[in-house]
Amino acid sequence: MIITEKKSIEEILESLKGYQKIFLVGCGECSTTCKTGGEPELKEMKALLEQHRKTVLGMCMPSAPCIAPQIKAELAKNMKALRESEAFLVLACGLGAQSVKDNDRLGLAIIPALNTVFGAVMDAQGNFVEKCSLCGECVLDVTGGICPVTLCAKGLLNGPCGGMNKGKCEVDKDKDCAWVLIYQELEKRKKLNQIKEIQQPKDYKKSTKPHKLVVSK
Ligand code: SF4
Ligand code: SF4
Repeated sequence: MIITEKKSIEEILESLKGYQKIFLVGCGECSTTCKTGGEPELKEMKALLEQHRKTVLGMCMPSAPCIAPQIKAELAKNMKALRESEAFLVLACGLGAQSVKDNDRLGLAIIPALNTVFGAVMDAQGNFVEKCSLCGECVLDVTGGICPVTLCAKGLLNGPCGGMNKGKCEVDKDKDCAWVLIYQELEKRKKLNQIKEIQQPKDYKKSTKPHKLVVSK
């Protein structure tokens, strides 16, 4: 899931300068789970904007605004309010905000209410933990299922570096060195020979942006 955090109301008001009539868009998936763009946050944002003399003409919450048919359907349902609006304030990740822009026929301004921080899994305690940097060339098969690109502070493909001390990372002594974790995992699986294989530098052509995947019908 995509992790987002709220921007301050001061920052949002600054971005909304010059726009009086606002339409809010939330997200029923990741931003609802992060408590940054669900129903309570939409209502809270409406009240805050009204306190600052903005007019909120409407709001919608597609389950996933990053999916075109969902946001299109919500925008179509709210066309009357949208025709009078000047700007969208989007309480979703950057993907959701840009999907609103791509699917808006009226050309309203797009203002993000959230910062998009990272992609994460949710652990058993409900914490969000970054696990993958979407590098385009997965090496989990040779690293015991532990991602060095994300979990090593230097993103090293061959490690550990010389700064590792008693299993801890030199960049953050509270964190386990990712390469020690990889070593332990491979040792447990009797696959330590894998750590001796030198991983070649990544082919950054594979992570050239923007990515696009055409799904055949
Ligand atoms: S190596 Fe790490 S960053 Fe790359 S795809 Fe695999 S899990 Fe993601
Ligand atoms: S100590 Fe380990 S986790 Fe930290 S930068 Fe070096 S190799 Fe990466």
